[in-house]
Amino acid sequence: MGFKQRIKAILQEKPCPKKIHRGALLAMVQKSLTPASRLHSRAHKKLSVHGYNHAQKFFRDAGRSVFSSLFAPIEIVYAHNHYPFMLESLGGVAANFDLASDFLTDMERRWYTTDFCSVHRTFISIAHHNLLPTPRFLLSTSLACDGNLKSFAEVGQFFGRPHLYINVPFGRDREARSYLARQLKDTSARIEEITGKRLRAGALEQAFHYANRTSSALREIAELRKNPNPLIYGEEGITSLLLLWGLFMGSRSGAVVAEFYRDELLKRSEAPSGKIDARKRILWLHLRPFYANSIMHILERELGAVVVVDECNLEVFPELDPGRPWESLAEKMVIHSWTGPVENRVRKIRRSIEEYHIDGVVHFSHWGCRQSNGAVRIIRDAVQELGIPFLDLDGDLVDSRNYADGQYRTRLEGFMEVMEGS
Ligand code: SF4
Repeated sequence: MGFKQRIKAILQEKPCPKKIHRGALLAMVQKSLTPASRLHSRAHKKLSVHGYNHAQKFFRDAGRSVFSSLFAPIEIVYAHNHYPFMLESLGGVAANFDLASDFLTDMERRWYTTDFCSVHRTFISIAHHNLLPTPRFLLSTSLACDGNLKSFAEVGQFFGRPHLYINVPFGRDREARSYLARQLKDTSARIEEITGKRLRAGALEQAFHYANRTSSALREIAELRKNPNPLIYGEEGITSLLLLWGLFMGSRSGAVVAEFYRDELLKRSEAPSGKIDARKRILWLHLRPFYANSIMHILERELGAVVVVDECNLEVFPELDPGRPWESLAEKMVIHSWTGPVENRVRKIRRSIEEYHIDGVVHFSHWGCRQSNGAVRIIRDAVQELGIPFLDLDGDLVDSRNYADGQYRTRLEGFMEVMEGS
């Protein structure tokens, strides 16, 4: 029996799911992240090793484990000397092992609506299967995803642990920023209450120092990705860079890995052999599926339409200022393009089309994600106004049950023809 089948058998052990040892999930994370996994670049390898070490601490030092959401201000968690772990990433890990559909079937049996994003349903089911350590607390935000309020509350209830929620306002004005800054300050005070420990002097400065180094390297990476010849395939860039946002912002690992990535891309930009030939340059919006599929392979390797940049890694933030910590963290959150009206997102997309010399835009419309799909018509019109072909590719990020290779191939080949003819 292969590794995947063995893990699958353990997780599907019946009739008592409580027998499942949570080490099984760590083994999956290990297999997904360590050098034994399918690696693309040296930087990706480094990221995987840091990711695995982080997951180990999270699983083995449960007293300091925190469940967090993507774009939550995890700098605060690091400052309080705890380990944040992005729950959404578990959807990707489960999909990678072809297990997400089993967790989703479990949720369907329990009458959870299939309208709710499968990423959330997967990690709720994983929690219900006792595959996670009991966290100290949970930290999520409305930034980018309003589903967090429900799913994190439910997981928090399951473990009987507090859920700290940060409501990011719609606007960006002074009032909005101070409302958010107050919440961030209160969050830190709540963490002190929960842990019984005061925030150490200098701890926030240190977390900001690492976050600033990470953001600065990510800004340079975003610049390097403008290279006429892509330096990295989108298949790698979309997910690996996102891990830096979701797991490591505010930690030494974040700074080390982001700088390593930047240096590797810099070297590739200087060596003729390190570049990729692209017939067309693609801007990818939202994420890509995590289960075994050939979408990126067909698009990038067969058709030569390389994803030079993706929406989730395009955010550029100002430096965090330790002199005014809550205000500067609040500014970072309110200027995110997924905050406020869709025009913010559209503006960023239009600017990126120009800056990255984009030939075509693909929007992966994940079923159940209102944030990304709700705006697709407006985005399509804005992109097409610029004379750039747009493909709305719908599907699921983690549930492979409706995936059909042939359908995606036909749509991608048709899209390539449109780009070549335009
Ligand atoms: S895909 Fe959409 S709904 Fe699902 S976790 Fe991401 S932002 Fe939230």
